[in-house]
Amino acid sequence: MKTDFLPGLMMDYPLTIDRILEHANKLYSDKKIFTKLADGSFHQYTYADLYKRSKRLGNVLQKLGIESGDRVATFSWNNYQHLELYFGIPGCAAICHTLNIRLSSDQLIYIINHAEDKVIFVDASLLALIEPIADKLRTVRNFILFNAPPGLSTKLPNVLHYEDLLSNVTENFEWKCNNESMAMGLCYTSGTTGNPKGVLYSHRSMFLHTYGINLTNCLGLFSTDVVMPVVPQFHAQAWGLPYACTMLGTDIVMPAMHLAPASLADTIEKMEVTVAAGVPTIWNGLYQELKSMPRNLSKLKSLVVGGSAMPRALIEAFEKDLKVTVLHAWGMTEMSPVGTVSRLQSKHDSLSDSGKWEIKATQGLQVPGVELRIMDDAGVEMPWDGNSVGELQVRGAWVAKEYYRQDPDTFRDSFTVDGWFRTGDVASISPDGYMKITDRTKDLIKSGGEWISSVELENALMGHPKVREAAVIAIPDEKWLERPLAIVISVVDVSLIQSELEELLAKKFAKIWLPEKYAFVKEIPKTSVGKIDKKVLRQRYKDGTLV
Ligand code: AMP
Repeated sequence: MKTDFLPGLMMDYPLTIDRILEHANKLYSDKKIFTKLADGSFHQYTYADLYKRSKRLGNVLQKLGIESGDRVATFSWNNYQHLELYFGIPGCAAICHTLNIRLSSDQLIYIINHAEDKVIFVDASLLALIEPIADKLRTVRNFILFNAPPGLSTKLPNVLHYEDLLSNVTENFEWKCNNESMAMGLCYTSGTTGNPKGVLYSHRSMFLHTYGINLTNCLGLFSTDVVMPVVPQFHAQAWGLPYACTMLGTDIVMPAMHLAPASLADTIEKMEVTVAAGVPTIWNGLYQELKSMPRNLSKLKSLVVGGSAMPRALIEAFEKDLKVTVLHAWGMTEMSPVGTVSRLQSKHDSLSDSGKWEIKATQGLQVPGVELRIMDDAGVEMPWDGNSVGELQVRGAWVAKEYYRQDPDTFRDSFTVDGWFRTGDVASISPDGYMKITDRTKDLIKSGGEWISSVELENALMGHPKVREAAVIAIPDEKWLERPLAIVISVVDVSLIQSELEELLAKKFAKIWLPEKYAFVKEIPKTSVGKIDKKVLRQRYKDGTLV
C-alpha cells in the first residue's frame, strides 16, 4: 500500500504490562517485596515469587471464566497480594478495577454496578465495609478473600479463598494481553456532582507512564532503592509505583493498613527505606512523630509527595530539620496519574535555601510525554510568564480522552474540542516551565488525599426543612490540609442547631465527609449571576476561623 510517508522498519513490540514483570523476573528475581503484618514483622518474598503467583492467578481467573475485557475488582490495602492482582488481572487480558475503600457504601455500589465487576478480591480486614452492600451488587459472581484468619465466618455470598485457588493451579500460564491498546486498569474518581467517573487505562498508556516516572529526572528511582508506597493502591494506581518499582527491580515495602505515623517511622528505619511516597497529611504526621521521637533516617533519600499541595513550611521542616529531601509532584487519576514533578536545576544552585524551597513548593515541570497549557475564560492560551493565571489543561500519552461508559457529551466540559483535558485546577506557569496551582474550579474539597464534594453536602443540607440556604467550602486544616466548613442560613425565625444537621449528614455520607465546623449566617454572598460566590467565602474563612 502506498503511503505519503516512509514507514519505519522497526518491530511492533507491544507495550504491555506483562513485559514489565517478565523483565523483573529475568533481572531482579531475588529482589524483595515486604508487607507489614499486624505483629510488626514483615511478610517477605521475591520478584520470582511475585512472578510465579501472578501466573497462577492468571490460571485461577481463567478457571473462573474471566474473559478478555472483564472487570475484576480489588478491595485492599497495599500488600503483596494486591501487587499480584496488579499483574495477574491485566496479564489475563482482564481489567484491574481498584476500589477505593474510603468511599461511602452508595458510591461503592454505584461504581461496582457501573463497572459490572465479575469478581472482587477482598482483603479480609475490610470485610465489614463490603458485607453490608454485597446483596446490592448485581454482577459480582464471587468474592475472593485473602488474609482471612482461620475459621473466619462471613456474610458474603459465593466466597472463595485466594490461597486455596492459587494452590490448585499451576504456574504454567501464557499471558493473554497481546495488544497494547487493550484496557488494563480502571479507577473511578469523584465528580463535583453526580456519580464518580471511571478512567480506563490501556497497557500502552500505563507502560509509557511507567517509563515517564522512571526517568531519572522524574521520581529518580534506581534499582538500588527500597521504595515504600504509602499512597494507596486503591487511589490512582498508587501513582504507578507498583509498575515503576517492578520495572526497575527496587525492593518494595508495603505498609498494608499500618499507616499511623509511629508505624511508618518504624518501618522506614527498620527496612532502611530510601524513597517513600504519600500525601502531605501522611508526611505531616510523620514529621510530628519524628520530632517527638527521632529515628535513624540516614537511608531515606527522598519523600515523594502529591495528591494535594505540599505546604512550603513542611518542605522546609523536612529538609532543614531532618535532612530529608522532598520531591513535590502533581497529577490526577485521569493522568495515570503523574503530570509534573518539581525538581531543581543547576541554575538554582546559587539560590538561598529559602529560594529553593519556594521552587520546590510549586507543582513543577511537565514530565516528558505530558504537555501543559493555561487558558483564560475565553479559551485563549495564556503566556508562561509566572503571573498569568488560567485554567490548567493537559494532553499526553497517559491522559484520558473520555470517561468510561459515559456519554462523551455529558462530559464535554472536561475535554476540549482540540484534544486537551480540562483539569479543574487553576495555575500559573513560569517562563522556565514551573507550574504553580493557585486555585481550583471544581467544587471539591481534598481532605487527607480523598475528595469530598461540596455540592453534594450542600444539596443534603438544603434538604433539611430548617435550612434556607447552604454553602460548603474548604477551610485549611493542619492535619488534613482541607476540611469542609458548612455555612448555613436557617429559615426565618427558626433556630437551628448543629446537631440536627450533623445527624442528617451522618446518615448519608462517609465519616470523612462530615464537617466539624458550621457557620450560621444571615446571608451568603452571590456572584453577578446569582451563584454562591465561593471566592468571597473562601477569602472570608481563609484562616479557618469562624467570623
Ligand atoms: P486525584 O484524581 O484524586 O488524584 O486528584 C487530582 C487532583 O488533586 C488535582 O487535579 C489537584 O486538584 C489535586 N492535586 C494533586 N496533586 C496536587 C499537588 N501536588 N498540589 C496541589 N493539588 C494537587
